[in-house]
Amino acid sequence: MEIILGGFLPNLRLPLAGDAALSKALPLVISTEVLGNQQQESVLSLSAPLVRPVRNSELSVLRRCKLKWYFTFWLGFLSSKINKHFWLGTLVHFALSEYHLGRTTDPAHLFNQVGKELIAAERIDPITVGGEVIEFDNVAELEIALELGTAMLEGYVDWHKQNDDFDVIDTELGLYIQMQDYYDRPFTMVARLDLVQENSEGVRVRDFKTAADFRDQKWIDQDQQFRRYPWMLRQAHPDWASDVIGSEWVALRKMKESNRSKPPYFMRELIDLTEEDFVEVGHELRAEATDLFDLEAKLQEGGDVRQVIYPNPMERCTWDCDYSSNGLCQAWRRGLDVTEFGDHFGQWGVDPYIEYKDEWAVAVPVVIGRREEGGH
Ligand code: SF4
Repeated sequence: MEIILGGFLPNLRLPLAGDAALSKALPLVISTEVLGNQQQESVLSLSAPLVRPVRNSELSVLRRCKLKWYFTFWLGFLSSKINKHFWLGTLVHFALSEYHLGRTTDPAHLFNQVGKELIAAERIDPITVGGEVIEFDNVAELEIALELGTAMLEGYVDWHKQNDDFDVIDTELGLYIQMQDYYDRPFTMVARLDLVQENSEGVRVRDFKTAADFRDQKWIDQDQQFRRYPWMLRQAHPDWASDVIGSEWVALRKMKESNRSKPPYFMRELIDLTEEDFVEVGHELRAEATDLFDLEAKLQEGGDVRQVIYPNPMERCTWDCDYSSNGLCQAWRRGLDVTEFGDHFGQWGVDPYIEYKDEWAVAVPVVIGRREEGGH
C-alpha cells in the first residue's frame, strides 16, 4: 500500500528545476551544480528512459531470500497494513530533509503537524487505494509514534548543532544510473539519497536510520548500501569523483530523552572507501544484477516456479519479514494457493518501482509503504 502525502502541505515538493518537463521522460540523473558552500537547487537531466529499474534493496532482498523477492518484486505484493515503524521512519526522514534543506528550523514541529493531519485524515476519511479501504493497524499506536518522533527530532536538532560541520548539497537526491550486467543486459540502478553533504574532508552520503538500539553500528561498514550510494554518486557526477569519499550512518534512537532513559540517543559511523573499494562495488553490483536477471530469465521460461524459487527461513524471519507475520510464507511452504491467501492481506501486481516512475512521486519523496528491509 502506498500513501503519498500531498494536498495539505504546499511545500512538500522539492524544488526541482524543470520538473514540469517530467511528463513522460524520467530523469537519468538528478544532479546538483557544483559543490558550493550554499545549497543548490537540483537540476534535472532528462535523457534516457528508465530501463528495468533496480535498487539496492531489491538486490538485498534477493540475497536474503528468493521467496521474499518473488512475492515482492516478481508478483508485486503490497501489504495493506501500515506499519507504525514505517510511518514513523518515513515522516522523520521527510522532516529531516526539510530541515537540512533549510525549509524549516523546527523539524519536530513539522513532523508533528504532518503526523497529526495524517491521523486526523485517517479517522475522518479512511484512505482508499484502488477502491479498497485501508485501515491503520492502530491509530493509538500512531499517536504514540507521533509523540516519540517529535521528541526524537527535537533532540536531533541539538545534536546536529553540536556535532555536525558540513554544507548540505541536497537531500532526497534521486540517482538513476544506466548499467549493464555481465551479459550486457541493460538496467537502471536507482537510489534516493537521504542527504549529500560536504566539508573539508570531502563529500559524503548520509543515511538516517531510526532504530530501537545501535546494534547495527558494529557491521554497518559491511552494509552494501553505504558502499553503493557513494559509488552511484561518483557515477552520476564523474567530475566529483575525487571528492566523494564515502558515507555516514546516523541513527536516531527510538527513545524519548528523560531521567529514566539512558543516553546516547544519537549515533554516527563514518564509512570511508578506498579507490579499490569503489572499483569492487561496481563489480559486485554487476554480478548481483547478473544473478537477478538469470533468475528472471528462468521464471520467464515458465515451468514449475518451485524449481526456481525457495524460502530461506531463519530466526530473524519473525521480525524482519512481513511474510512471516501475515502467514504468506507458511502458506507457500504448505503448498497452498498464496494468491488467494494474500488477497486477505494486501494486493498483488503493484509495481515496486512506482515511486521512481511516477512523475509526481519522483518529486515528492514522502511515500509510506514499501520498505523491504524492515525499517529505516
Ligand atoms: S519469512 Fe523468511 S523464509 Fe519466508 S519469505 Fe520471509 S524471509 Fe523468506
